[in-house]
Amino acid sequence: MALLVTGAELVWTARRELAGAEVLCEGGVVTAVGDLAEGGPGLDSPRMPEPSPPERLDASGCVVTPGLVNAHHHLLQSAFRTLKGTRHVRMGDWLAAMAGYYRRAAVDPPLAAAASAAALAEGLLAGVTTVADHHLTWPEDCDALELASSVVSSAENLRSRLVFVRGTAGGDPEAAAESVSDLVDRFGVMSSDGMLQIACGPAGVHSDGREMFDALGEVAAEKGLRRRTQANEQVDVERAAVRWGRRPLELLDSWGWLAPDVTLAHLCEITAEELARIAESGATATNAPGCDVPMGWGLAPVGEMLDAGVTVGLGTSGGGSNDAGHLLADARLALQVGGMTARPPTAREVLTMSTTGSALGLGRPELGQLEPGAAADLCCYDVTGPADAGVADILAGLLWANPGRRPRHVVVAGEVVVRDWGLLTADASRLSAELRRMSALRLGL
Ligand SMILES: [Zn+2]
Repeated sequence: MALLVTGAELVWTARRELAGAEVLCEGGVVTAVGDLAEGGPGLDSPRMPEPSPPERLDASGCVVTPGLVNAHHHLLQSAFRTLKGTRHVRMGDWLAAMAGYYRRAAVDPPLAAAASAAALAEGLLAGVTTVADHHLTWPEDCDALELASSVVSSAENLRSRLVFVRGTAGGDPEAAAESVSDLVDRFGVMSSDGMLQIACGPAGVHSDGREMFDALGEVAAEKGLRRRTQANEQVDVERAAVRWGRRPLELLDSWGWLAPDVTLAHLCEITAEELARIAESGATATNAPGCDVPMGWGLAPVGEMLDAGVTVGLGTSGGGSNDAGHLLADARLALQVGGMTARPPTAREVLTMSTTGSALGLGRPELGQLEPGAAADLCCYDVTGPADAGVADILAGLLWANPGRRPRHVVVAGEVVVRDWGLLTADASRLSAELRRMSALRLGL
């Protein structure tokens, strides 16, 4: 069924700003953007669907943007929010506290299913149509394929795009590589509809040594997977200095992990020399201020990274440090804390990070934009309320104004998944109650 998004104040395709434009989605893809009804000068691809008229999605009073791409989440951590000993603490202490909670909760497929379902529902309601889940917790007594499958099922049920990143935080390199291989055998590198992608990568040099980076690098090359890791957050720098007497990015470079197929999350307090090294390598970056700023783990020089030609995406990181999966809220934070850096990013740059930048880091140029040929993932943000009144620039206002803003409608692959601020693909109250119940039971709260 074709879908025509009509009546919008403004359509931002990530490349162009088109006042009053319509968006036509057919077969899960954007097929036309512009003044479609009139066939006017804004029309790019002058065709209307035949034979039946498209379903119309009323976006009057809205700004339409590409669906947001959360390039860095740890979905499981949504079961572990606001726990004692995990707020405003040094990262080394935080990791130890979280490891204790994971053991206490006995992480298993039912818990991963409940956490990911609630987290993905939270994301969709906040306009996030694609989530990269860097999953790092693999208890020894738990079947890894079953654990991963529980997350994949949550995404399928909710109709959220998922990039499942088979991560590690210590453990046996050979077993981890085998597990990546099993996942690819089970799910493929990418599903034919683009709803599921598999990637891999260790948590960082703070948790894993050269053998793990080598093992996952090899299996990624063999299977054609994107690689992802985290670098330069507080503990990462400290442990790299103690164990190797080097900086994390030096280690990653010498281990073959600064390359165009690699995305590096966090990148707090990188030096000018490190920035030049990343830019030269073609590696991409993911900014995660919603984790690093409140925790006090550092600030990434986003504007300088963009000026150096680095593709920068945006991620929330997990519920254990961020407590939320609301990417637009973190885009607002990225913009606000940019004022503390030498070169603050603009609102349009941060919107681009939250969409195209994240998508390119996942190797997905069809996501995070709305030009013809793009995946039909989009958000309609109502801008008619008092929090948006008096805003001169409604696109920049998406971030500067109206904190906590959520989209009125969300579309994934041409299907409406959120309508009038309500989730259509699942019972959001039931999902939330299930995670609340399970978290309390497992943690003994
Ligand atoms: Zn992270």
